[in-house]
Amino acid sequence: SMITSDKAVGADYTVRTAKDIREDFPILSRQVHGKPLVYLDSTASSQKPRAVIDAMSEYYQTTHANVHRGVYEISEEATARMEKARVKVARFINARQGKQVIFTRNTTESINLVAYSWGDANITAGDMIVLTEMEHHSNLVPWQLLAQRKGARLEFVPVTDDGLLRLDIYEQLLQQQPKLVAFTHMSNVLGTINPAQQMIAQAHAAGTVVLLDAAQSVPHLAVDVQALDVDFLCFSGHKMLGPTGIGVLYGKRNLLEAMPPFMAGGDMIRKVGLRESSWNDLPWKFEAGTPAIAEAIGLGAAVDYLNALGMENVLRHEQELTQYAMERLQAIPGLTLYGPRAEQRGGVLSFTLGDIHPH
Ligand code: PLP
Repeated sequence: SMITSDKAVGADYTVRTAKDIREDFPILSRQVHGKPLVYLDSTASSQKPRAVIDAMSEYYQTTHANVHRGVYEISEEATARMEKARVKVARFINARQGKQVIFTRNTTESINLVAYSWGDANITAGDMIVLTEMEHHSNLVPWQLLAQRKGARLEFVPVTDDGLLRLDIYEQLLQQQPKLVAFTHMSNVLGTINPAQQMIAQAHAAGTVVLLDAAQSVPHLAVDVQALDVDFLCFSGHKMLGPTGIGVLYGKRNLLEAMPPFMAGGDMIRKVGLRESSWNDLPWKFEAGTPAIAEAIGLGAAVDYLNALGMENVLRHEQELTQYAMERLQAIPGLTLYGPRAEQRGGVLSFTLGDIHPH
């Protein structure tokens, strides 16, 4: 086994080994090229435990109907199950209220929602938006489009050779009082865990709103939106053992209340006229059209599964694996490993080997 210590004590106080946990994932029993599947691309999308697959299948077999509108038993059950999943997600990130959790399709849609709804209402010509040089495209291109729409300016925090942010330059940029700072909590390329709590406090001291791209952090470490005091937090279900097609935007209530809708249609309205309509309460103001009901329920099951493992166990186990992987990779002649020391990173490793193309 690659695993140095394989004990994880779940919330139910049973001791489960990494081998037991592996057996929860049906896909890991298949073979690829005649060998058991070893999957190392959870950064892009994680595999699903049976509990998630079963929750979705069971929902479709017993309860499916449209939500929030049917006045009959199974529609009300479907609505209740979806809203219960929302509360699970809210508790998982320690949001004050379930209504601060907006279901989207993925991190990308969550960021675009903020860029269009908050961005168009709050960014004007000459305003400055601060990003970092380690952002995923989904936390870069929406801000490029917003800056182009509004004539705003983008500035970037550079990355050191060790894969860390130049916090001295970040502090200098904050002195120019940007309207928004958007950065990744954990880099999907370098594995760097950025000091989000400190960076958010510094931004707030400059009067700046902060969006945190938590696509890689929520699946791998305990994220507490109240402790972070973050304004917007975005993540994807499919990277945290949940299904594709469901993501989350968390926001502070005063910000979300003040924002106009992003998309329009059914479910997001309170009263509809032919020429004018008024908006529904949070979170539904931002959830136009029939939502991803089974996927929300699947995400709720993923949260239950992660809670049973315990996020502190997930983090510790990943740090042990990362440490081990780094030691072994560094022993390979000609291999260059990128990013910071094991203590400053999550379980993401990037390396090159001579001039060999990654494909
Ligand atoms: N942000 C980060 C840091 C990511 O790693 C990813 C996905 O790889 C995304 C955003 C985009 O996530 P999605 O494709 O689910 O919208």
